[in-house]
Amino acid sequence: MKTAKFERKLCLLREYLFPTGCASCGQTLIHETEAWFGLCGDCAGSFPLSQEQRCVVCGRPLISEADICMNCRKSTQAEAAPAYDSMILLYPYIGKTQTLLKAYKFGKHRALAHFFSEKLFSSMSRFTASWIPVPPRTGKIKTAGWDQIEHIAQILEKQMRLPVLRCLKRLASKTQKALGKSERLTNLQGRILCVKNPPEEVIIFDDVFTTGSTMNVCARTLKDAGAKKVHGICLFYN
Ligand SMILES: [Zn+2]
Ligand SMILES: [Zn+2]
Repeated sequence: MKTAKFERKLCLLREYLFPTGCASCGQTLIHETEAWFGLCGDCAGSFPLSQEQRCVVCGRPLISEADICMNCRKSTQAEAAPAYDSMILLYPYIGKTQTLLKAYKFGKHRALAHFFSEKLFSSMSRFTASWIPVPPRTGKIKTAGWDQIEHIAQILEKQMRLPVLRCLKRLASKTQKALGKSERLTNLQGRILCVKNPPEEVIIFDDVFTTGSTMNVCARTLKDAGAKKVHGICLFYN
């Protein structure tokens, strides 16, 4: 992996010239790996992946429940089961993990994409499926200036050599943030299209999971287009 080594050196050089510091604690980054992940060694080690059992519907850690969390138990009785087959959510969107996502999205800490990609990959390494990014809301890139999920997709594809398929497209719809769960679902239905045939098994990935509506519509769309198994993973959950 000569290229990866060279890229890491380049990352450190960039950090010397235009220092951003650790995205979590602000400390100066002095090693290649630190510059690569955008985090100092101590902070990089302070975001372990949870080994807890997860709710099979929403992916959140279970607290003394079996298979399905209380929240999903209540709601899945009234609603249909989600279209995805499994869901993993990595970090609660609070405190220092919230700082991390904000540093990535709104700050200069784009190196964090390497860190996020590693976490995504190690959580899903048992699958050999293709990775499909959840398409951004139309207009989002214009406002933010860049596509944060696509940046991660490029690392998964180019540096980690994983199959990435950009087959989902999103048509204009109202922003999901201000809507309730049922409104979120209807707001998105028919607004996400599959423009290429997906393989049988796929992994869809996104940054934040709130009600799961976006993931659900993406999974439904992929299944309608021929996917048999759809796994989901999100970096953060509300
Ligand atoms: Zn730090
Ligand atoms: Zn649940």
